Amino acid sequence: MKPQSGDVRHLAAPALAVSAEHLSVRELTRLRWLAIAAQAITIVAVDAVWGVALPTIPLLVILGSAAVTNVVLSRRAGLASQRLVALTLLVDVALLTGVLALTGGPANPFSVLYLVHVMLAAIVTTSRWTWAVVAMSSAGFGLLFLVSVPLPPELGGHAMDMEHRPYSAHLQGMWLAYTLVAAVIAGFVSRLSTALRQERETRSRASRLLGLATLAAGAAHEIGNPLATIRVAASELKNDLAAAGASHEILDDLNLIDAEVNRAHDVLDRMSVGAGELAGEYPVATDLAQLLTETIRQLGPLGARVDIAEIPAGQTVRWPVQAATQALSQLVRNAVEASPAGTPVQCFARIAAEGVEIEVLDCGNGMTREVLDRIGEPFFTTRPHQGTGLGMFIARSLIEHLGGRIAICSSVGKGTRVSVWLPAGVG
Ligand code: ADP
Ligand code: MG
Repeated sequence: MKPQSGDVRHLAAPALAVSAEHLSVRELTRLRWLAIAAQAITIVAVDAVWGVALPTIPLLVILGSAAVTNVVLSRRAGLASQRLVALTLLVDVALLTGVLALTGGPANPFSVLYLVHVMLAAIVTTSRWTWAVVAMSSAGFGLLFLVSVPLPPELGGHAMDMEHRPYSAHLQGMWLAYTLVAAVIAGFVSRLSTALRQERETRSRASRLLGLATLAAGAAHEIGNPLATIRVAASELKNDLAAAGASHEILDDLNLIDAEVNRAHDVLDRMSVGAGELAGEYPVATDLAQLLTETIRQLGPLGARVDIAEIPAGQTVRWPVQAATQALSQLVRNAVEASPAGTPVQCFARIAAEGVEIEVLDCGNGMTREVLDRIGEPFFTTRPHQGTGLGMFIARSLIEHLGGRIAICSSVGKGTRVSVWLPAGVG
């Protein structure tokens, strides 16, 4: 019954995760120009102040290739994708390794600059890319022990040989310390920035829902009355024309008007109901089994197709009841609507870590990757004539507002499993 293999989408993750946080290509290239200029100035200054001749030509070749990649990069516009930022950082780590290898290897104090790349990766890219930058920079630092030109003696340079064991051991310690610090930054900062990103997404979704509530309140007032008039007029017209023996085409058109007016009403209702639940309902202690059975019962004939397969008895939850009911009923409604007649929809509830896990399983048509990527966007629907595209948006916004999470696992042609986790007590 369960769709085991298939695409999974954790809806609590940011819906727009593809774009790097606030880093445009322009900012990225500007940062790189600064880094290139700083390195060029340092090389010139070392020559001017200490009179040390560094291998200028190979260094210029490396800085020149950094400049070329930056010119190529600057031709792109808009936000830099996480992949682009990560690849650029990996290229920069390689170039920095080249510069360090020519200017004293591990003894060059500027080797600490590797950390800048790790930090940027942790803030802007995913944790997988961040770990790639950590691994590559640690490998680059390690490589400096094997292939590097020692600093001239006037700058305190030594060849990495047996005569200078204590110094060499100190540098190896530095390498180890670097790897540790980079790993801590990768783990900590990237977790922190992911959490901040999610928090921002959740808040912006909640405010979009509240915006929708304001819009819905205005629309319900301004459009609701004319819609009701159209509905009454259409129904009277239909009766009169039917009595006068009007053709089927005319009656079909009137039925269409009636159906479309109902649909418009439905959209207004859902917008105001879903958004209204968010606007400050108090949590009350409720029996979980009772809440679920009531939610399903309220769905009428749709609910009759749902089988409550597992439900813990005597479990009390503290939730805003209308909001929780509204969110869960959207999920159950979707599952039933996606299932062919006669196939059951199952609902499970279990006590999970400090909360409740609720699953809605169906053997319906499932979702493609494209649908999974867009599900939960307001007004996104694959059923333009029956759907409003508000169900998942409202469900997700309400669940996140209650501090919960929602994940979807779906296989085309096999079915869908929607899992919701909600804290047992809200507020
Ligand atoms: P609506 O139901 O009004 O179309 P929703 O926001 O509830 O809008 O759902 C958006 C889309 O997600 C649906 O049109 C449908 O394609 C897809 N969907 C949601 N739930 C399921 C499900 N259980 N199985 C298959 N597709 C689903
Ligand atoms: Mg729906």
